[in-house]
Amino acid sequence: MIANITLPRQMVIGGGALKELPGLLGRVGVTKPLVVTDPFMRDSGRLAAVTELLDGAGIGWGVFADTVPDPTTDVVEAGARLIAGGDYDGLVALGGGSPIDTAKAMAILAANGGRMRDYKVPAPIPKMGLPLIAIPTTAGTGSEVTRFTVVTDTETDEKMLIAGIPATAIAAIVDYELTLSMPLRLTADTGIDALTHAIEAYVSKRANPFSDSMALSAMKLIWAHLPTVCAEPGNHAAREAMMLGATQAGMAFSNASVALVHGMSRPIGAFFHVPHGLSNAMLLPEITAFSAPAAMPRYAQCAHAMGLSDPAEGDQAAVARLIDALRRINRDLSVPTPERYGIDRKRYLELAPTMAQQALASGSPGNNPRVPTIEEMVTLYERVYA
Ligand code: NAD
Repeated sequence: MIANITLPRQMVIGGGALKELPGLLGRVGVTKPLVVTDPFMRDSGRLAAVTELLDGAGIGWGVFADTVPDPTTDVVEAGARLIAGGDYDGLVALGGGSPIDTAKAMAILAANGGRMRDYKVPAPIPKMGLPLIAIPTTAGTGSEVTRFTVVTDTETDEKMLIAGIPATAIAAIVDYELTLSMPLRLTADTGIDALTHAIEAYVSKRANPFSDSMALSAMKLIWAHLPTVCAEPGNHAAREAMMLGATQAGMAFSNASVALVHGMSRPIGAFFHVPHGLSNAMLLPEITAFSAPAAMPRYAQCAHAMGLSDPAEGDQAAVARLIDALRRINRDLSVPTPERYGIDRKRYLELAPTMAQQALASGSPGNNPRVPTIEEMVTLYERVYA
């Protein structure tokens, strides 16, 4: 098989790597970046840590700190106007997946014009935008290495997937120390997001030997260290392992695909404003149970990589352990059902067919080992509700 592998040109990885930013900007030829971040990063002093580094190196900069969780077209368009009105020659995204995705989308829109919807998968993105250095502060989305950005259409509430080389950062700084401040809920949700990336990449119909190696390594790291980072937020070794696992999981799914969990999770996020990792977590155990019969050996390999089973046990036993373990970790990390999250039952059930349609249109369910019908997706939405 032939696999197309897309990755950033350079990754600077390790505790304290943030200080390498000025040198990295020089290496990728950026002289005046626009720093894209969110209000929390600005108000908590994390943005100042970046701008002080730039000042120290005599590098001019601007700031766009108005990004919102789950980026919207309104915010992306405002950011793209700022690029058009300035003399920036690059972007630095500081934050979780939301600021990174916002910066990617801003660069695409500024270079190509039109509306974000014009570039929704499977539409191509004709022109490359400004080079982007991504600096993640969560260990979850992997957006720093992926060829995707996810933007919610303000008019329709649709979470749109935009993909291609122009949606890939030119470089990433992967510094786990930036994740030490994550509170428990964010640590858990983003950690399960990364685990979902790894599992879905491995069972995807578009898996390949490159994505497999990244996915298995990511699963092993994340499964071993997620409970520790939740119990001991200041544990450097566990935070480092989670960050590395999340980045590897990003490399895996970006070069294979995500599948049914992500396809069904995006509409829950868009309609009910559930954080991305949490909506994935709500779905992961039941969708694994639904999908596994179509790819028992692949799911069994996941169980082995996560240390849940022994290859001698056979696939059936390994997959049963995997499904049990995914249900258990949801309980241990207090992942609520949609009902316990406070989502109105009537509205959820009314919207289930629309959510299923949107999931199908995103293309992700088509990569699942077991491709569901709309009716099966509606049943899965109903099953996870309570
Ligand atoms: P986020 O960026 O939305 O951040 C959530 C909250 O956590 C924000 O309030 C933020 O300020 C705060 N936060 C971030 N880092 C922190 C830290 N170190 N300490 C304390 N607080 C911190 O969260 P996310 O889960 O990283 O990103 C979710 C977004 O990423 C969604 O929009 C999702 O669709 C997208 N996503 C993109 C890809 C991709 O490949 N592009 C993949 C998966 C998810």
